[in-house]
Order: sequence, then C-alpha cells, then structure tokens
Amino acid sequence: MRKNNGAPDPYAVARRRMVSEQLIPGGIRDSRVIEAMGRVPRHAFVSQGMEDQAYLDRPLPIGMGQTISQPLMVAIMTESLALCGTERVLEIGTGSGYQAAILAELVREVFTIERIKDLSIRARKILYRLRYENIKLRIGDGTLGWPEEAPFDRIVVTAGAPSVPEELMKQLADGGRLVIPVGGEDVQILDIISRSGEEFHKHSITACRFVKLVGAQGWQ
Ligand code: SAM
Repeated sequence: MRKNNGAPDPYAVARRRMVSEQLIPGGIRDSRVIEAMGRVPRHAFVSQGMEDQAYLDRPLPIGMGQTISQPLMVAIMTESLALCGTERVLEIGTGSGYQAAILAELVREVFTIERIKDLSIRARKILYRLRYENIKLRIGDGTLGWPEEAPFDRIVVTAGAPSVPEELMKQLADGGRLVIPVGGEDVQILDIISRSGEEFHKHSITACRFVKLVGAQGWQ
C-alpha cells in the first residue's frame, strides 16, 4: 500500500460516484476491491488533459495506441483474482500503472511487465510519485513471464491473448489463479485458470475487449 501524503483530492467525489454508479451496480462485491478502487487516484494515471474523464465508465487512451482499461473491467479482473492480502502477483501489461496500483493496495508484492518502454517509464514515474513501494516494473515480453521471480500466486494479463501462454501456466503457483482475456483480435472471453498440481481448470466470466497481447506467446 502507498503512503498517503494527505493532500486534498479534487476528484474524491467523482471517484465515489464511480464506485456507487459503476462498480456496485456492475456486480462488484469484494469490499477490499471496492475500497481500493475508492482510494487510488485514477486521474493521476490518465493522459494529461484527460483528468476530468478519468472516472467515466470507459477506457481512455494513454498514448502509443494503448489504453487504461474501463474501471469496471479493472474491478472485475481484480475481484476474479480472489485476493486475501499475502499474494505475490504478476501483471502482464503495465500500461498506465493503474491496475498495478490497485493490486499493490491489496497484496504483498506486485511484479508488472510492459513491452513498450515509454509506457513503463511513465508508469514508474507515476507510481513513484504516489509512493508505492511494493511494485517492481520490468520492460519486456510478458508472454514469457518473469521466471526469476516465479512462482506467482496470481497472474493477471491485461491484454487480449490468442491462447493462454504456456510460460505463464508454468509460472503459476500450485493453488494459484491466472486471469486472462482469450480470443480473437476484436473480442475475447475473460477466463480464470486455476491450478491444482499439474491440473488446470478453466472458468469463463464475461466477454471483453482488450488491445492485443503482442509477443512470442501472443499475437505476432
Ligand atoms: N493494466 C493497464 C493499466 O492499468 O493501465 C492497461 C493495460 S492496456 C489495456 C494493455 C497493455 O499491455 C498495453 O500497455 C500494451 O503495450 C501491453 N502489452 C501488450 N503485449 C504485451 C506483452 N507481450 N508484454 C507486456 N506488455 C504487453
């Protein structure tokens, strides 16, 4: 969790409305997820000049053809991870850093990988400014995971994959969960993959639309 600097927050009302008008009606029930989304200043992660749109019910561009996901989708993915607080979590697709910040409020350690250097540098600056101390960032192809830090209790992929990358399944701890959008270029299904020993069980949650997961075990 970050250290709060106590500064007044001009977007506090907008953020409360995001929770009460989007997340609760959208079916989010995990009180820890709701509280984290009510705390993290999403406006700090959007592109400059778009702060007033930060709490609207939509994804927003963050440059380099990429997006910060819609708040409800961030909440659905986070809730699907079924976090209790002790986990080490790997995120693929740092983007703005917002999802990593939400996770950092809820777990022990977050590892996040972004393939676009400029986005990773931008996210690092924002997360540093907000004083997150339990997030490690890496630039690279997240479809290959982060083998030196594996296994992970949870893995979340925030870009659409053509299939579940083998490497990520290998790096998932026994009893762990992987949340990933899988499908075509335009529409995917958000899947939860649970690991029990060498067995993997899939449970599909909802249709979704993410930018492409590009990499050795993703789209070319
Ligand atoms: N989680 C992000 C946030 O909170 O802002 C949103 C992620 S955005 C929808 C998807 C991100 O995945 C993009 O920034 C894209 O560059 C990144 N990405 C795509 N393929 C990747 C890969 N193989 N490894 C790491 N990042 C990847």
